[in-house]
Amino acid sequence: MKTWAFGYPKLGEKREYKKLLEGFWAGKITEEEFLKGIEELEKYRLETYKKYVDSVPVGELNLYDFMLDTALMLGVIPERFKGKEGLELYYEMARGKQALEMTKWFNTNYHYLVPEIEKAEFSLRENKPLKAYKEAKEKFGLEGRPTLVGPYTFLKLSKTLQKVGEEGGLPIYHMEKIESAKVLKTLMDKLIPVYKRILQELKAEGVKEVQIDEPAFVLNLNGEEVEIIENAYRTLTEGLEGMDIYLITYYEGIDDRYFERIVNLPVTGIGLDFVSSERNLRNLRSKGFPKSKKLVAGVVPGRNVWRLDLNKTAQLLKELIDIVEEENLIIANAQPLYHLPITVEPEKKLPEGLKERLSFAKERLGEIKLLKGILGGDSRAKAIADEVSKLLGQPFGRNEEVIKRIKNLKEEDFVRKPSYGERDKVQRELLGLPLFPTTTIGSFPQTPDVRKARVKYRKGELAEEEYKKFIQGKIKEAIHLQEELGLDVFVHGEFERSDMVEYFAELLDGIATTSHGWVISYGSRVYRPPIIYGDVSRPKPMTVEWITYAQSLTDKPVKGMLTGPVTILNWSYAREDIPRSEIAYQIALAILDEVLDLERNGINIIQIDEPAFREAVPIKKEEWDDYFNWAIKAFRLSNSKVKPETQIHTHMCYSDFNEIIEQIYEMDFDVISIEASRSKGEIIEAFEKFGKWDRQIGVGVYDIHSPAIPSKEEMKAVMQRVMKVLPKELLWVNPDCGLKTRKWEEVIPALKNMVEVAKELRKEYGNS
Ligand code: ZN
Repeated sequence: MKTWAFGYPKLGEKREYKKLLEGFWAGKITEEEFLKGIEELEKYRLETYKKYVDSVPVGELNLYDFMLDTALMLGVIPERFKGKEGLELYYEMARGKQALEMTKWFNTNYHYLVPEIEKAEFSLRENKPLKAYKEAKEKFGLEGRPTLVGPYTFLKLSKTLQKVGEEGGLPIYHMEKIESAKVLKTLMDKLIPVYKRILQELKAEGVKEVQIDEPAFVLNLNGEEVEIIENAYRTLTEGLEGMDIYLITYYEGIDDRYFERIVNLPVTGIGLDFVSSERNLRNLRSKGFPKSKKLVAGVVPGRNVWRLDLNKTAQLLKELIDIVEEENLIIANAQPLYHLPITVEPEKKLPEGLKERLSFAKERLGEIKLLKGILGGDSRAKAIADEVSKLLGQPFGRNEEVIKRIKNLKEEDFVRKPSYGERDKVQRELLGLPLFPTTTIGSFPQTPDVRKARVKYRKGELAEEEYKKFIQGKIKEAIHLQEELGLDVFVHGEFERSDMVEYFAELLDGIATTSHGWVISYGSRVYRPPIIYGDVSRPKPMTVEWITYAQSLTDKPVKGMLTGPVTILNWSYAREDIPRSEIAYQIALAILDEVLDLERNGINIIQIDEPAFREAVPIKKEEWDDYFNWAIKAFRLSNSKVKPETQIHTHMCYSDFNEIIEQIYEMDFDVISIEASRSKGEIIEAFEKFGKWDRQIGVGVYDIHSPAIPSKEEMKAVMQRVMKVLPKELLWVNPDCGLKTRKWEEVIPALKNMVEVAKELRKEYGNS
């Protein structure tokens, strides 16, 4: 029996990684200083691993994203980056003007860069795992386990790029996921020789074991693909006997139908995730495991923060040993540890009793070590396990009132009355908005003074009254500006919010926030996911004071701005002792309390943002219905009790709107604003197919992620395209997301143009 771990966060305990990257980009440190700092960080990481586990991975380090590293290693570099090299090339591809597209990594909140395969050609530019292996050996005297992203996962998460035309001298590209088995096979045949060379070189260097990550094996596979995988791995591993090759899967179980074929691939060992679902264990029980193959048993969670009940997990491991025999078992984390903050040690402000119930990445390594101890008969490890079991057996964070409220929910609580058609009439009369109403998504620029004031207030360096005055001042400026610009529906600007989820998490009971629990969402971008540890309720109003203040300054309607229950849940670590649906309903009820308070205080339009609605859909398609069923209900519950006059908005971004248009329609809002900068064509198609769309909608007319000022022509073009499929009475005019990351110098001219577009449209299409 051995222990393993992988994916330990690269961020550093003091966020050194972020500081190094940003310092280098800003030209504050030289390339040499930068690389030196990174090397020290890597040393820390390898030493941490070494303290806890038997086999340490090397080659995990990257300077932005591991998929980008893999693309570069395999020579997958689009034409447009030609002539660049080294770090310049690397960061052009990561964050330059024409950077690679960024998207969610499986159903997690990590974003990777999407490799673009322009030609069906691959080459080994640099053997990255080999380099990492040698460096770890020379510099730190460590015999590491080289890791790399597997060929199937690489191809499944890449896109093929085809030039389809030209406009004004610039190429137009068509990007596509690799869905067809034929294309996959062609590419795989070309890719495998390159992977083979990587492995041959590793073997020649004397490497003993290699880890190949194939998380895409847990997606819904089909027979043709499995055959391609089998052929690929047969060719790949031939002649490499003597070096142990491990295939690791995570985030879900292998499809029932293909479980046996995947675990029988010709490699030394297979890694299975026993935490994300019961699927792998169920299949292992009924179908067994190949004789003398190693099992990397993913039993320690990498995606949740709950301290492990070691006794229970030891029990599971014993069952696994009965199936695969002790010498074939490797104890490991179930998913990469980079979904967790580094350590709970520095947390000082958590609610009583919570800290001892948490494990972050470092504590997870400790758990892996303890499990080995327990199975090996170490009495000290066993004593710790018994103590943890006792602690976790005690109820925590429960609130009888909330439990009762959930129990008393009836089907009608999830249904808003009257129907949209009737509400719409009343709302139009009350609000009296023009055709093509203009609005924004909520936030305005978070300028350095705003951020500083918030930090000072948190630290207690700014008194409550002063802070309030400061924020009110910002709101006042924002309202005046919106008056000047001539927008129709105003926002207060969200200056009091550091983050749209954390803000509410801090004010809700049952949810904790951390002071150091940073996790990378992409590149150098970090966030602190809140921790939902108990029953959720709202002790007092959270936004009413700010919104009513904003409304007091103008006769135009100000939108109340809230984050929806599904997004709060999906962007937090959530307890696992009750179903996710129930947590979502609890949050929905807390939001409903806020919605009703806003309504009572004269706010007629309330926006409930759900940007994370789509991203937490289960990996397995067969589980989608169940997810959407409760997610839709949670959103509906959050506003089901409002008066017909109150207009409920929602906002979504990056949601592949077209794929889930039916589910979105079921949410029963009055108005939705969506991001569509990259996929307007697809959205138009979706409306055509759907046919019965009758809700008001604002298709983002410009991309807020770019500093460029959008021209009137391009915004108008968006509106005209949408008007081809939807009646003009349904259309709003707005940017595609919040403006908090932009500068005022960008926002003001952009909105000015946008308002003019609406005015021109009214002239051209008005008086229906
Ligand atoms: Zn958005």
